[in-house]
Amino acid sequence: MVLQGFDLEGQVIRPPAEAESILLQVTLGCSHNACAFCPAYKGKRFGFKAPARVAAALSAAAQDYPEVRRVFLCDGDALVMPQDRLEALLADIRQRLPRVTRIASYASAKALSFKTEAQLARLRELGLSTVYLGLESGSDAVLTAMNKWGDVAEHLRQAAKAKAAGLKLSVTVLLGLAGVDELAAQEHAQATGRALSAMDPEQAAALALMVVPGTPLYDRQQRGEFAPQNDAGLLRELYWLLEATNLTRGQFFSNHASNPLRLHLRLPREKAAGLEAVRAALAGEATLVPQAYRRL
Ligand code: SF4
Repeated sequence: MVLQGFDLEGQVIRPPAEAESILLQVTLGCSHNACAFCPAYKGKRFGFKAPARVAAALSAAAQDYPEVRRVFLCDGDALVMPQDRLEALLADIRQRLPRVTRIASYASAKALSFKTEAQLARLRELGLSTVYLGLESGSDAVLTAMNKWGDVAEHLRQAAKAKAAGLKLSVTVLLGLAGVDELAAQEHAQATGRALSAMDPEQAAALALMVVPGTPLYDRQQRGEFAPQNDAGLLRELYWLLEATNLTRGQFFSNHASNPLRLHLRLPREKAAGLEAVRAALAGEATLVPQAYRRL
């Protein structure tokens, strides 16, 4: 069953794993909105959605889907809302949708940096269970080049705080973000694997970069300043990334629609099988998802 939201404004994005969640839009856009590769909220001015509109959407959800178990808070940066508003929102969700067992949200390192561990633990008590953090790269050089908020150390600090508060952590990284240069790509992939290992999230998802018109990265590409990675390069990065990723007990995905090779692995158990699948793909022994079927 694929659910949806109510009174959604503009383009709304959710992680693939939230396909069965009610989408509850509480903020508009992203408070950073400056990552060079990101087309998500260009042209959407960041703001908090009026509480009356959020309450009306929640009422509509309660009427149409009283049995719903999952809610996803949109847009890109819901946790940047002030603590008192977030606490009131979570309490309201619990009251109006009593069957909900899982509330999730994107959480940028910036948004997490505004919250103490105790505040995050309070949000956990009130029902927030999972946060999706975009690390993108474990290389400071790549994060700087992509105008990402915060360096790798900052992302590690915020991830550790979220985990210590009891939140389930899902971390997203981007293959291809260092461009086509092989040495830079290897450094990006291996550093990203090391950062994922340090974060040790319950879920790690590798997406493949798609350079989208309207983004600063697209303009760089047009000027010849950025050359996107090809399929063989993306596979090599996936291999280096997986090789350097050691999770205590977690899932590793490359099953987003942007990926040429889709994997869903339980680590550490299936790491060797995953590496073998990538090796086979690099050797031409596996069918890749055609470019035409890939999307963000
Ligand atoms: S923080 Fe996330 S949503 Fe915001 S611009 Fe960067 S990638 Fe896009």
